[in-house]
Amino acid sequence: MKLYAPKYYKKFNCIADKCKHSCCIGWEIDIDSETLGKYNSLSAEASESILNSIDFCNSPHFKLLDNKRCQNLDENGLCTIIKSMGEDYLCDICREHPRFYNFTNRGKEVGIGMSCEEACRIILSSDDYDEMIEIAEVPGDEDISDFDAITRINIIYNFLKDEEFDIIGKMAILYDTYDIEVEFEHMLETLEELEYLNPENRAAFLSYAELDDVVPNDNELTRAFAYFIYRYCSEACNYVEFCESLSFAAFCTKLILGITSIDDIYEKARRVSEEIEYSEQNIEIIKSRLFYY
Ligand code: SF4
Repeated sequence: MKLYAPKYYKKFNCIADKCKHSCCIGWEIDIDSETLGKYNSLSAEASESILNSIDFCNSPHFKLLDNKRCQNLDENGLCTIIKSMGEDYLCDICREHPRFYNFTNRGKEVGIGMSCEEACRIILSSDDYDEMIEIAEVPGDEDISDFDAITRINIIYNFLKDEEFDIIGKMAILYDTYDIEVEFEHMLETLEELEYLNPENRAAFLSYAELDDVVPNDNELTRAFAYFIYRYCSEACNYVEFCESLSFAAFCTKLILGITSIDDIYEKARRVSEEIEYSEQNIEIIKSRLFYY
């Protein structure tokens, strides 16, 4: 099976100690059994510090210090596991973040998630979101849906390159094309219902306001919309699922546009991704409030 990625994927490298919102802070990372086996098979001397950093209750995970930093993150913002043993000793989640994978009607796809600030910078500044590259041949015999989401996405991407309309105009045309009746009137109610991990995000999301002026950061918003489409629409198995995901992509993009308490488009996008994309509950709440045929 072929593995595809947007062209910008190859630009991604973790910026480690230069990252202001490190994923090694604030998240309890579960450790897969294979990696745990590797740690247990190390010599007593080599394994001591790693095993001490793991909480073995329930599913084994790296402990967080009082300041929410992973115990393996040193004072310079570098991972001591990588420093002492190399990337081969990272658990699956640490090695893969911020990547996500989808199975589509043409094969497997990989992307980078916008909650990572470096991924966010690349996604919002790259105009080649519509250029897919084959990056590997990977094992896999998953059933591939007959529904052709990829051709639909390519048509939408072509349309997104049209400079006649801004992103809001383009979304309105897409609603007509796809018979989507997206109901954003209750956007604030929906945002109030979400489960927030970070209270600062709650305050930011509730500053949402509809803008009826010229859309600022139109290019970045278009690229964010393209990212959400890539992440959520490509796995659709039928037309209804495709429309549901397209509506969800539009909701997230409109939220980024409408947050008024933060100026920086990159920070708005990163926060929307962090608070919504990593919570199945929040995704469900939003999808349940969207109307589509
Ligand atoms: S958020 Fe991204 S850039 Fe920052 S430490 Fe994690 S993977 Fe690296």
